[in-house]
Amino acid sequence: MSIDIECLVIGAGVVGLAIARELASAGTEVLVLEAEEGIGMGTSSRNSEVIHAGLYYPRGSLKARLCVEGKKQLYTYCDARHIPYKRLGKLLVATSDSQVPYLEKIAAQGKANGVDDLQWLSAEQTRKLEPELDCVAAVLSPSTGIVDSHAYMLALQGDAENAGAQVILRTPMLNASIDTDGAFTCQFGGVEAMTLRCRKLINASGLHAPTLARNIKGLDPIHIPGEYYCKGSYFTLNRRAPFSHLIYPMPNSAGLGVHLTLDMGGQAKFGPDTEWIESENYLVNPAQVTAFDQAIRSWWPGLPEHALEPGYAGIRPKIVPASSAAGDFVIAGPGDHGIPGLVNLFGIESPGLTAALAIATVTAQALTAH
Ligand SMILES: Cc1cc2nc3c(=O)[nH]c(=O)nc-3n(C[C@H](O)[C@H](O)[C@H](O)COP(=O)(O)OP(=O)(O)OC[C@H]3O[C@@H](n4cnc5c(N)ncnc54)[C@H](O)[C@@H]3O)c2cc1C
Repeated sequence: MSIDIECLVIGAGVVGLAIARELASAGTEVLVLEAEEGIGMGTSSRNSEVIHAGLYYPRGSLKARLCVEGKKQLYTYCDARHIPYKRLGKLLVATSDSQVPYLEKIAAQGKANGVDDLQWLSAEQTRKLEPELDCVAAVLSPSTGIVDSHAYMLALQGDAENAGAQVILRTPMLNASIDTDGAFTCQFGGVEAMTLRCRKLINASGLHAPTLARNIKGLDPIHIPGEYYCKGSYFTLNRRAPFSHLIYPMPNSAGLGVHLTLDMGGQAKFGPDTEWIESENYLVNPAQVTAFDQAIRSWWPGLPEHALEPGYAGIRPKIVPASSAAGDFVIAGPGDHGIPGLVNLFGIESPGLTAALAIATVTAQALTAH
């Protein structure tokens, strides 16, 4: 049987698009298949749009390495492709003396990860930068920024297409089987069902990557992690924020804590919180405002009454349950599961937006590893 296309990338989020760009630029024939009617309609458009510095993740983890590398690549890419971004800097704050050792630990972790521009600030120094911020100490991360994620994804798509790739929308992949010649026969739904044979298959389907991997006949389930959803809701501020930096409290095991970010238009939003859920839903419960109000007041006591409005929500694609420590990115290629031409990407939660260009390079390497 003939091969229809050399490589199929499943999912046109920021990661699938970055992989398509990387492979097509290196001369691979690539088709990106996306279930939704547009690119980046999943987690890639439901996040904080922060370019993370790489502070929190264990040294040597993929999250640490690819965040630090991806950040550098992303700033360079934004300059080259005129993608709007702002290097606003972030203040990570300890709001009580008991939090100071944790702040020190994160600063040391960041340094170990190669983030060498962190500055320790006293309460007084912090107040000079942000008069409304209440804390006992802070760490300034000057390399943290924000990016227009849609412009970023459009640039990735444009590069991939210029290099010969194509993106096909409204085409969910249903399953695949591995033929005797090692090629993949993939079935797609959508308006018209179709079958495509390819030599290389990249599963970059985000939240649903473990489910899709379970539908690849011949892949031993031992190589497929669990699929768990941890929702993060945002509330927006219905007025201008008196802050010019991003403000982050201490993180918890599932997320980075209810933080303040600003978008490219200056709109302030708070979140995401952490809520483990059983099935995908993006509704923001207005009743959560009380918990948000309380969390924000711990570092911004001057938050005006009735200033918060329900915003939007995203879902972290977790591969470990709530009871476990945070997992790392998993980029599993032939060297891991023994199937030539197949790469599954699992657990690409934060900092996946920051790390996407570096994730794409590692995915291309994983394809050829044995
Ligand atoms: C609340 C929240 C805040 C975050 N904040 C940040 C941040 O500030 N900075 C940062 O660096 N990272 C952040 N992240 C992480 C970042 O958003 C993700 O790591 C990144 O967007 C993942 O991209 P992706 O392409 O892997 O997934 P997605 O964007 O989800 O893309 C996967 C795509 O696959 C498609 N798909 C699914 N199944 C199929 C199928 N069977 N067939 C075809 N297509 C399919 C989906 O429709 C989707 O478009 C945040 C995440 C969350 C949840």
